[in-house]
Formats: sequence, structure tokens, C-alpha cells
Amino acid sequence: MEQKDIARLFDQAEEELAPTFAKLDAIERKNLARVLDAFRAQRIAAHHFSGTSGYGYDDIGRDALEKVFAQVFGAQDALVRPSIASGTHALAVCLCGLLRPGQTLLAVTGRPYDTLESVIGLNPNEHGQGSLKDLGVGYAQVELNGAQIDFAALETALQDKTVKLCHLQRSRGYAWRAALSVEQIGQAAAFIHERRPDVAVMVDNCYGEFVEEREPCHVGADIVAGSLIKNPGGGIAPTGGYIAGRADLIERCAYRLTSPGIGREVGSYAAGYGPFYQGLFLAPHVVAQAVRGSALAGAVFEKLGYAVSPGPKDRRSDIIQAIRFEKEEALVRFCQAIQYASPVDSYVTPEPWAMPGYQDKVIMAAGTFVAGASIELSADAPIRPPYIGYLQGGLSYTHVRLALQEAVERIMRT
Ligand SMILES: *Cc1c(COP(=O)(O)O)cnc(C)c1O
Repeated sequence: MEQKDIARLFDQAEEELAPTFAKLDAIERKNLARVLDAFRAQRIAAHHFSGTSGYGYDDIGRDALEKVFAQVFGAQDALVRPSIASGTHALAVCLCGLLRPGQTLLAVTGRPYDTLESVIGLNPNEHGQGSLKDLGVGYAQVELNGAQIDFAALETALQDKTVKLCHLQRSRGYAWRAALSVEQIGQAAAFIHERRPDVAVMVDNCYGEFVEEREPCHVGADIVAGSLIKNPGGGIAPTGGYIAGRADLIERCAYRLTSPGIGREVGSYAAGYGPFYQGLFLAPHVVAQAVRGSALAGAVFEKLGYAVSPGPKDRRSDIIQAIRFEKEEALVRFCQAIQYASPVDSYVTPEPWAMPGYQDKVIMAAGTFVAGASIELSADAPIRPPYIGYLQGGLSYTHVRLALQEAVERIMRT
């Protein structure tokens, strides 16, 4: 395939995606309008961007940012902190803040994201690190039925009176299944609350923010958590995580995040909060750009005969595009092309390597301004049949298209 044929393939895919792109524009408008409403309600101004030092008592930039996030996410309250080191940290603060000895965590969407296994205490060689298991908190799991919640199994699991928190994961993570839609999350929350009003519903919102018009707390989830170097940081936030939800639950998380007795009142940030506000303002646009890029990847690779998930025109609830390459060489070339097309570290060639904690070799491509930020264009994959590559992010759609053209060129050269 020559370069001009590849360009034509992309033009054609783009034309076919026009209705999908129009829907994404409408979602972006709704989400940005909600962000602007929240900025207006808090009367955000330059004085909110200043840094603070020491304990950070009366840190107006921090406090207003948390109010803005709460409103945007349809929640009563929020914690938004540079001191939350990652998405895993935000989720661990929720789990450890909300659960007590003798209680049970119920995972409603199957096994949670890899890094949570250590938080829950599923890895026997890590005992003693203070996991939920070490603290006497039980764990139970309901498997997904394809991409559907198994309501019959959930009903049975909820009969255990020690269950006090339900965990749902919105994103597909690194699995060949559809993301959970906000509507599905709402149905699950209603089902759980009807049977067990004493059980809180927590959603791992990583990779899901602003992909749809509503967020989990708009439809009945009690608390959500995520990373600021993914969707809601808009590619601008340099670090951090957030938790948003019911005020009583947020208070308990705050006592876990800092200290009992102190909670949310402390926490300074010398570098200032400007990038967090600006990132949130940009996030609806950046997420829409990334989702467009994912849809384009789905459309183009489907045309080339590869299995893709989700399909190019499917409704999305996270930013991830999975492509089944069938051959190791095609997968590796794909990831190398993404790296080559990155603005940072373009001269580096990623190779499959044995990363600690993984069963198979993995390959990772990312050349990002914020280290490890997966709202910036990135791709990764475990090296095992059927050689599925996971693509996510992209601060601009044009960048994603250029990177994908490079990838198709390299794959077609074999
Ligand atoms: C990224 C991610 C996490 C963990 O976030 P980190 O910032 O990498 O710790 C948890 N759950 C899901 C679904 C994720 O995508």
C-alpha cells in the first residue's frame, strides 16, 4: 500500500465517522458547559491559582478546586489533591477509608484493575503491607457476563450482611470487553441500593471521565475516584488524583488521606493550582479528541481486516481502543510507530521486555510531556496471542491520525 492509498483509507474512514464525530461534539459541549457552570459558581479567579506552603490551612485554591470538581462530577463533595500520587492511590484511599474490620468489599464487575489486587490483598506474597485483607476486610467478587453485570449473582452476593461497599470498574482496563456505560452503572446502583440501602457504590472512573454526558454520581453512584494524569487533568495537570461523592463518605476518605482528627484541612501545594483548573477546563475537549482518535483507529484497522473492540461506531464509555493484531510483529511495529510519532522520546525504539509483576513480556509506547500520562497518546500490550494492542489518549486528534498513518505504513511494509 502506497502512502497516498493509506491517506485515502484514512480520509474514507473519517467520512464514515462523521455522524460519530458529531455525537462526540455534542458530548463535549455538554461537558464543557458543566465545567464552565462550576467555575462560575465558585467565581474562579487568578487568586485561586496561587501556591501555598506548610500545613495549607485555608488554602483557597485547593478548597475551590474541590468544590468545582464536586459540581462537575455531580457529587456533594470532593477531594482533589496533588498529594494523591496516582489513580491507585485515590482508589486505595476510598477502599481503606470506607471499609472496617469484619466488613466485605464486593467487586461487581469481576476482578478489579491489576494494581488493586495488592490493595485488596489478593497476592499472598505481599502479606503485611496493610492491605484490606491484613486489616481484616473480606473480599467477594461477581463475574461479568460478557460486558453485562450478572444481576442474579449480585442479588445472591448482597445477601451477605458484611458487604458494605460495592466496587464497579467503568473502563475495560486491559480486557477484551466493552466499558461499562454510565447507564449500566446507574442500573447497578439502583439495584444495589434497593436491596441494601446501607451499601455504598464506588466506581473506578479511570479513563471514563467526560467520555459520556454524565458521570457515575449523576446516576446514583455514591463515590468515584480517578487519576489527574488521565482524563480530568486534560493533559495539563502535572500529577494528582481525585475522589468525588457523598459528603459523609468523602469525610471518611479525608481522614484516611491525611490523618484522623485532621482530615481535609491540611495539604499545601507550592507550585500553585493553575494547571489543575486549566486542565479541567480543557479536559472535555482533550477527551473528545482522544475518543475521536480511538474511533479512527477502530475504523481503519477494521477496514484492514483486524478485529477491534469497541467497533468504530459503538457507544464508548472509556478512551481505550483494543486492536487484535494476531501476529507479534504487527503489534510491535504498531507500538514502535506510536513511539516514533510522539513529541517526546521519538528516537527511542520500544521493545518487548519482562516487566516485574507481569506474566508475559510487555511492550509500552509513550512519549509524553507528563511522565506516564496516558491521556497523552500511548499504546501498550502484553506479548501473548492473539497479540492485542491497547491504544489510548492523544491531546489532539491530528496527532493520533498522524501516528496511526505511520503505524499502518509500517505494518503494511512487512
Ligand atoms: C489507570 C487505572 C488505574 C490505576 O491508575 P494509576 O494512576 O495507574 O495508579 C485503575 N483503574 C483503571 C481502570 C485504570 O485505567
